[in-house]
Amino acid sequence: MRKGRILIVEDETGVRETNAAHLARLGYEVFKAGTIAEAKKLAQETPPDLYLLDVMLPDGSGLDYCHDLRRYSTAPVIFLTCLDESRDIIRGIEEGGDAYLTKPYDLNVLAAQIMAQLRRAGLMGVGRVELPPLTVDLGRGEAVLEGKVTPLSQKEAQLLAYLATNAERSFTREELFRAVWGEGIDTGVVRKYISVIRKKMELDESSPIEIVATPGGRYLLTRPRFR
Ligand code: CA
Repeated sequence: MRKGRILIVEDETGVRETNAAHLARLGYEVFKAGTIAEAKKLAQETPPDLYLLDVMLPDGSGLDYCHDLRRYSTAPVIFLTCLDESRDIIRGIEEGGDAYLTKPYDLNVLAAQIMAQLRRAGLMGVGRVELPPLTVDLGRGEAVLEGKVTPLSQKEAQLLAYLATNAERSFTREELFRAVWGEGIDTGVVRKYISVIRKKMELDESSPIEIVATPGGRYLLTRPRFR
């Protein structure tokens, strides 16, 4: 069984080789790049199942690269950062990252994160959720509402799919964060993503579906016309 193809983008040779050797021993197919330009070339030839991204790279920022690759890839991105600053971590998640590890990290923790992200992508990255007249296609990364197609990022699609699967049920931001991003704490990401989904899909009170916040700060997907 194929375990998964991992692209390591890291300019520190020691770190890159150590990670690569460890992951190869665990049975992953490992590709290595020292720059964003190399990474783009490799990813184009063989699309990875997961990216391990350093933040500070010689030809740019891993955060910008992540933002860029979210236009065509839904593969999980784990940031490996030595910038132990919350703003970088928040930006990493906002740019479409799925998890982060702060250097120095334990190789076993890295392996566990990779396994969790690949499992999550396998479970949630395929299939579709139907809640007529809404369809959320997780594989294609899009929502179709009454025939109107809206491209969504992987996390936007997962969040919308989770709300649609549990329509008319309300959730706290923390519950939604755990459901979609897994471990960690919500730092305003959920609110931002909901606002992006509503804007992209042009949702408002006259739409067949709407995502609303309750006075208590919970969120739910509702179908006003079906009430
Ligand atoms: Ca670096």
